[in-house]
Amino acid sequence: MIAFENVTYDYPGVTALRDVTLSLDHATTTALIGPSGCGKSTLIKIAVGLLIPSRGQVRIGEQALESAHLAALRHRIGYVIQSGGLFPHLTARENVTLCARHLRRPAPWIAERFQALAELVRLPGDLLDRYPGQLSGGQRQRVSVMRALMLDPDVLLLDEPLGALDPMVRHELQQDLRALFDRLRKTVVLVTHDLAEAAFFSDSIVLMREGRIVQRGTHADLQRAPADAFVRAFLAAQQPLPPLHD
Ligand code: ADP
Ligand code: MG
Repeated sequence: MIAFENVTYDYPGVTALRDVTLSLDHATTTALIGPSGCGKSTLIKIAVGLLIPSRGQVRIGEQALESAHLAALRHRIGYVIQSGGLFPHLTARENVTLCARHLRRPAPWIAERFQALAELVRLPGDLLDRYPGQLSGGQRQRVSVMRALMLDPDVLLLDEPLGALDPMVRHELQQDLRALFDRLRKTVVLVTHDLAEAAFFSDSIVLMREGRIVQRGTHADLQRAPADAFVRAFLAAQQPLPPLHD
């Protein structure tokens, strides 16, 4: 469904991705994980078309992601970022429906789709006419997910969507998002730096380091056969709770 082929990306003075080849099948969830600065957000921004690879290419379905038809392809991709990225001066409803209104979708279609999405992300109706500043962090992320799904994209990309939430809100949203991914059967890529979260959500985990993919597999694959010393160290760094002393 989405394929990166030998993708390299250079920021001025920094090579963020080095020859990344990765293919993600339809209706699978992939967790992208790795230390801060390893290139996760850059890879996602390339998939959304916000950045163009310095070398290599990306395909969505059969189409290469090139500037000529970027706008049309972008509508096939939903994107959620950690801070939500909602426009502060628009209500939740206005944020979610902005793009559909811009594309002149019929008002009844928009209203129906909006209602269905509000139910899908379990947001009570009385919150939908609030501004982002009047919502909690978890509620804002639910609105961001609605917005990303409004045009019914094939691909959903989430860049640390739960990173800014407190543990209980995060846990609740994890459960709801996983149920939603199972139900929608889209190609989902979720960035996290939490291995437990990666294992909870995904069919496969892609572990990155310094712009390269180090290993791809299930959590069990990584545990049983770590590709190198870095993978072992990364797994070891995911601390369990200390034992109780009583
Ligand atoms: P991650 O999301 O895994 O933390 P990023 O993709 O954000 O990593 O960044 C990868 C590398 O590219 C890092 O070294 C980062 O400092 C660098 N980088 C990211 N954005 C920019 C930018 N706009 N200009 C220059 N360097 C950047
Ligand atoms: Mg990032």
